[in-house]
Amino acid sequence: MDTGNNHRQVPFVDLGAQYETIEADINQAIAGVLHKTDFILGESVELFEREFAAFCETQHAVGVDSGTSALEMALKAYDIGPGDEVITAANTFIASTLAISYTGAKPVLVDIDPETYMMDPRLLEAAITSRTKAIMPVHLYGHPVDMDRILEVARMNDLIVIEDASQAHGARYKGQRVGSLGHAAAFSLYPAKNLGAYGDAGIIVTNDARVAETLRLLRNYGSTVKYHHMLRGFNRRLDTLQAAVLGVKLGHIDAWNTARRQHAQLYHELLKDSPVKLPVTADYAEPVYHLYIVRVEDRDGLQAHLHDQGIATGIHYPIPIHLQPAYRDLGYSRGDFPITERCAEQILSLPMYPELTPELIEYVANALLDFALADQAEPLVPSSVGVGR
Ligand SMILES: *Cc1c(COP(=O)(O)O)cnc(C)c1O
Repeated sequence: MDTGNNHRQVPFVDLGAQYETIEADINQAIAGVLHKTDFILGESVELFEREFAAFCETQHAVGVDSGTSALEMALKAYDIGPGDEVITAANTFIASTLAISYTGAKPVLVDIDPETYMMDPRLLEAAITSRTKAIMPVHLYGHPVDMDRILEVARMNDLIVIEDASQAHGARYKGQRVGSLGHAAAFSLYPAKNLGAYGDAGIIVTNDARVAETLRLLRNYGSTVKYHHMLRGFNRRLDTLQAAVLGVKLGHIDAWNTARRQHAQLYHELLKDSPVKLPVTADYAEPVYHLYIVRVEDRDGLQAHLHDQGIATGIHYPIPIHLQPAYRDLGYSRGDFPITERCAEQILSLPMYPELTPELIEYVANALLDFALADQAEPLVPSSVGVGR
């Protein structure tokens, strides 16, 4: 219960605090576009694409209007469509499967590794059918998927690999950037992602020049030369204004990711003796902590307790895709992906953003420890701990 002492507000993310650190550069970049008026596929788009490709250690990047578009268009560029199946993780944001569905293909789910919560490559083989065309590993929470094993299965079965790197800008797998590992990768640039625009945006990276060219057509009515249409494309371009914002922010992403890792390290030190399960980093991974996920039996109790202390948290995600009404027709039922289902009941995302301070992290950790201790000590000292539940 809030005693009024030492009470703070800790937001889940704080985009305003970030803007204050880059305000002058952002305003100048936006004003530059306003004066130039190259709003559609302007100079800032090309520049950001070049810089983002270099950041991902890939040859090409194509900016689009959202991460969901990026995923769908990457699949389409590899001719994935009706009659095909694409395997992805049961534990992901629904945009991963929506993008598959938009192409006309069918999403096929596999459960996750119980330690990292990422797609479990050991389950892929059993999910492959004669219709399987692609695998979509999702580097969720900023932690890379065990890609070597996925790429090996893909090679043996002649499958395309499209990474969903929407939560992992800058993460590394065995030293390589995520996004550079599969045939192509899609990134969301939604405001709250590690690299975020000031509105919707997304980008696809690939080393395949032909696919990059197809994507440039797909995002712009199927045209690179005005009024000459090679295919039935979309209007799904990355806005020049957003590209200008993203260009400024890209210059800070490594420092911001380093800050996230330091915050995760501090959470870890403060919470290592607590009964909550802390996020596990695989030895192949250099994660970027888009989210800091803890796991606890009484998740809803902990969330309510933290809320009472002014601490905002999230659940990523409370209802697995196979239990969503939108995907009833896939024919899955409760029990099909037990690890994902258990996580959905037990995981909680703590505040995580680069501008977080050690003081706020300590405040969150102490609130969590209070709850955990009260939980363990019950019924011996229910009131003396001062945690009303
Ligand atoms: C955010 C996100 C997307 C969708 O990106 P939008 O830009 O919101 O369309 C897709 N996959 C994952 C894993 C995401 O986190």
